[in-house]
Amino acid sequence: MGTILIIDDDSALRALLGQILHQSGWEVLEAEDGEAGIQLARSHRPEVVLCDLLMPRCNGFQVCRCLRAEQNLRDVKIIVTSGRSYVTDRLHALEAGADEYLVKPIQTDELRRLLKRLTARESEGDTRVLTVPVYQAPLVRFWGVRGSIPTPGPSTMFYGGNTSCVEVRADGEIIIFDAGSGIRALGLQLSQEFKDQPLDLTLLLSHTHWDHIQGFPFFMPAYNPRNRLRILGYEGATQGLFRTLSGQMESPYFPIGLEEIPANIRIEELRDMEFTIGRVKARAWFVNHPGICVGYRLETSAGSIAYVPDMEPFHRLRSQPNPNDTSVRASVEFAMHEDRKLAEFIDGADLLIMDSQYDEAEYQSHIGWGHACVDDVANLAVLARVKQLFLFHHDPAHDDEKVSRLVAHARQIVSDQGGDTVVEAAREGLEIKLGG
Ligand SMILES: [Zn+2]
Ligand SMILES: [Zn+2]
Repeated sequence: MGTILIIDDDSALRALLGQILHQSGWEVLEAEDGEAGIQLARSHRPEVVLCDLLMPRCNGFQVCRCLRAEQNLRDVKIIVTSGRSYVTDRLHALEAGADEYLVKPIQTDELRRLLKRLTARESEGDTRVLTVPVYQAPLVRFWGVRGSIPTPGPSTMFYGGNTSCVEVRADGEIIIFDAGSGIRALGLQLSQEFKDQPLDLTLLLSHTHWDHIQGFPFFMPAYNPRNRLRILGYEGATQGLFRTLSGQMESPYFPIGLEEIPANIRIEELRDMEFTIGRVKARAWFVNHPGICVGYRLETSAGSIAYVPDMEPFHRLRSQPNPNDTSVRASVEFAMHEDRKLAEFIDGADLLIMDSQYDEAEYQSHIGWGHACVDDVANLAVLARVKQLFLFHHDPAHDDEKVSRLVAHARQIVSDQGGDTVVEAAREGLEIKLGG
């Protein structure tokens, strides 16, 4: 067992904790204030520092910052202890560099468990989570399927009312498409399933319209400092990803800022259209939708998944209002060329999850809104020889019956075209096993 340093101005508590930890095999050092604690940490380089929050000559926040600033003390595990249970204190302690925050009175069992976990993790040498063995078989699971705004209620019970969020598990990765309101339930599922086990997650953002990011502040795994979350997406039309994501968490809208979130979050603005997530090959494609918006395609060992949540076919937009005009005709030809490129992007996909917000008649009054109609999507899926199509981004005005009618209509189109694409509508909770 290693050395533990207790920094606390309460001598009785120091003595009691010291005795308990000594019995557990720890070499115990004690300091009665922050400055003395920092000196002892420098001279003895303990494995763990148990540090009170409020004490003279450097409070716990300052001790954390000081130890983290020193090269040879960066690996020391710091547990901040405090009689205060404010969430902001906990967040600030973690932000200052603490690994954990314990509220007094300290429960001996809880402290022992915590020490075991912290020191065991150190011996692994890498906090990256080896999640492969515990993940289920490769799958795709829908957590939010609605476009524009959440629409919970009796009329959307079957397909669901949460906005865009789709989970992919494959090749040892958990990859999340978009952070609409559906990501809240995904977060709860992950927290329940993996409990104390640290998670390594990747969130791919198609774009930052609110229905694709609004659930992020409620994603529980982001509040666990042991988790790693990589957020990937493209810089928006007017500002970068970080600014947009933090903007929705500023104080007028939300009590905790993005920078205060304790998980290890890395926001990466993508520049290339091809990249990798572990062993998964990923590609992105800019689609026709207001602002900067992409679709993604993942190549996993269990199959390929294309996710295009918001998209309006180019040719539809350009066909208006007078397709016989020669200048319009050139424009339409260009647009059809662009649409063919999208078809190539999704070509042969095992699963295609695609914006099918409107029916043909509705689309006529929503031209230029950035969304597709079911007819176009069904035709595109057949053209691209997609194996399974999931209609997605359901219109907030569509009840379950309407969505089912759209599925039937899309199946009819596929059949008329002689295609063999299987058509379903995405619905919350639906789980598709990959790889047969
Ligand atoms: Zn959307
Ligand atoms: Zn959008």
